[in-house]
This record gives sequence, C-alpha cells and structure tokens, in this order.
Amino acid sequence: MSKDWKTRTQLVHEGSRRSQYGEMAEAIFLTQGFVYPTAEAAEARFIKAGEDEFIYARYGNPTTRMFEERIAALEGTEDAFATASGMAAVSGALMSMLRAGDHVVSARALFGSCLYVLEEVLQRFGVKVTFVDGADLEQWRKAVVPGTKAVFFESMSNPTLELVDIRGVSAIAHSVGALVICDNVFATPVFSNAVEQGADVVVYSTTKHVDGQGRALGGVICASREFIRKTVEPFMKHTGGSMSPFTAWMHLNGMATLDLRCRAMADSALKVAEALSAHPKVTKVIYPGLPNHPQHDLAMAQMGSGGTLVTFEIAGSKEAAFRFMNALEIAKISNNLGDAKTIATHPATTTHQRLPAEQKVALGITPGLIRLSLGLEDAGDLIADLVQALSAA
Ligand SMILES: *Cc1c(COP(=O)(O)O)cnc(C)c1O
Repeated sequence: MSKDWKTRTQLVHEGSRRSQYGEMAEAIFLTQGFVYPTAEAAEARFIKAGEDEFIYARYGNPTTRMFEERIAALEGTEDAFATASGMAAVSGALMSMLRAGDHVVSARALFGSCLYVLEEVLQRFGVKVTFVDGADLEQWRKAVVPGTKAVFFESMSNPTLELVDIRGVSAIAHSVGALVICDNVFATPVFSNAVEQGADVVVYSTTKHVDGQGRALGGVICASREFIRKTVEPFMKHTGGSMSPFTAWMHLNGMATLDLRCRAMADSALKVAEALSAHPKVTKVIYPGLPNHPQHDLAMAQMGSGGTLVTFEIAGSKEAAFRFMNALEIAKISNNLGDAKTIATHPATTTHQRLPAEQKVALGITPGLIRLSLGLEDAGDLIADLVQALSAA
C-alpha cells in the first residue's frame, strides 16, 4: 500500500483485502480450493494466476496473502511466504535454495531444531556446513570462502542473548556472493532492521511475538519477490509447509498490537534486568539493554532495544534454580517466548537438555541459568514475584 506508512499504521492496515461485502475485520477464508466460473477460466488460472486469483490453499489463500503482505511491509521486503511453523520457514528457506555440494556457514549457537536441520538434514543431503562462533567476525571471515552459498544465524542467540553483527556478517557474505539468512525471532519484527543492515532473507517463528498469545504455530520467510516466488514458493507449495488460513487470520489480529506489545515487553525486560542486577542472590544478568552487556552498543545500533528476554543466573545449583521456579506465582514455567504471559525457562534441563555437558559449558548454559520471556503483566507485580521467588531459592 503506502510506502510512507509508519510501523503502527502498517500493522493495522497493510495487506488488507476486502470482499464484495466490505467487511471491517479481516475475513477468514477457510477454504482449501477455489471455484472457477468456466473450464477456460480454470485453464487460464493454471497458466498464470493474477494478484487476486488463487488455486489451492497450499499454494496461497486470500487470508494468508493478507498476512504475508502485512509482515513483508513491516520487514521491508518485497514479498513473504507464510509457513506452518517457524521450523518450516527455516528449513524451507535453506532447502529451497541449496543442493548437494553447496557450502553453508552457520553460527553455532542455534535453537535446537535449527541445529538439527543444519547439522543433520542438510549434511545428509550433501550440503557442507561450517560452524562458527557467531559473535566473532574473524571466524566468519575465515569460514566464508568463494563458492559459499549462504550464511545462517540467529541475530540474538538463545538463551545467552549474544548478538550477531548483521552488518558485519552480511558484508563478509556478500563479498563472495553468499546469501544472508537471518533467523530474527529474538529481535522481533518490531525491533528488526535486518534487511536494511544487509540480510537477504529474514525468517521468523510467528509462534512467538506475532501470535503473542501462545495459540498458533506459524512462520514466515521474508525476502525479495524474485527469491520468494522463484525459489521459496515452488519448494513450499509442493512440500506442504504452508500456513493455515486460520493461523494467518489469528496473526492478522495479533499484528495490530504487535508494536505496542513488543515495546511494553521490552520496557518490562529493562526494569526486571535492573531489579535482578541489584539482587544479592543473582550472580549474573544478561540483558543487551543494560549498559554493562558486552554488546550493548551493537544491540542499540542493531535493534534500538534490548529485546523482550532477560537471562540470569541464580547463585548455587540446579536445585536453587528449581526452588526459584517452583515459587513463582505470576511467571509460568514453560519453554515458549513472546507470549502475553511471562515465562520462565530452565534451559539446562529443558530446551538445551540434550547438549553434551562440555557444549553447555561452552554456550554458558549453567545449572543456575534462567531465561525469562517478559509478558504484558505489570512490571512492578513481576518484580515482586521474582523477588519473593528468589527468597525461596
Ligand atoms: C521457536 C524458534 C524457532 C522454531 O519455531 P517453531 O514455530 O516452534 O517451529 C526457530 N528459531 C528460533 C530462534 C526460535 O525461537
């Protein structure tokens, strides 16, 4: 629609399509197929489908299309393809463009399922993957070689909130013509400037902040029209990882408040990080929005925010961490993030349980480490809850 719209306006209006009824709210087209007025019209649509013409929901659907156009506008890409989950977006972005013999360089600190795709799936199909320390540009410089097809990273790592310098890595990748694929979940679409900073393809698990209320799994691949329509779409529509129209409809509703929600969560994250920093039972607080975070300046330049998650370490052992979690009254024990409800996660025994002990140490995942995903509750109530639970630890 309008290139001049600011984020909040885009989030409410961008991509809207109205039927002949002129409905106010985005309609949910819960239909698998579409009816053609004549056999000739069906033939014509299979030759070339126009902007408002659909064939089958695995290929595209009016509600899903509204969501794709809205998030593409927000991300600043020409186009987007909505997927059934964040992992369908990650695996689809990679597998649609790679073939046997190709070389990929990836950051080592990855969401467990992303690591599985890069370490297991891609290598099984003959793609060579080199892993680097994502925060160390020197390692990227050494690993990216002429012929490297793509680089992959999470712009902020889980659970230790380490940033990858998108501008720096993109310059290295582009010097050999490699595509930059950025999993941007922790940065959120609101705080992302990944495309402006050099990323070619941005993927999200929309299960997180975009849904924002812990209901639907979803994902999206944002990129140029050429990449989405020539590379991603043929792969996704034939392998079956497309988003359900019902999910797209929930996401469209959720997006109207996405900016407000992410900013409120980040405000609480900063307040909580400051409160935890002052607590005697807390040995370490990791929050990129705190001036003492080693990448504070990068976080401010890259996202203009510290984000919506805070990771911290409780003095003592796993038992102390568990006593703390079990004493929480507002924050819920779970492993998701970006939800309206504040979530506490113990990475060492859940999301990162399967990692070998020495890898946990290397990634800083200690027995006392807790990851908090800030929700929309009152920050004062949350801090009071954390403080009373720390007393129990
Ligand atoms: C959650 C997440 C994914 C996977 O998303 P799903 O929607 O659960 O498939 C991928 N990458 C990151 C960084 C995530 O946090």
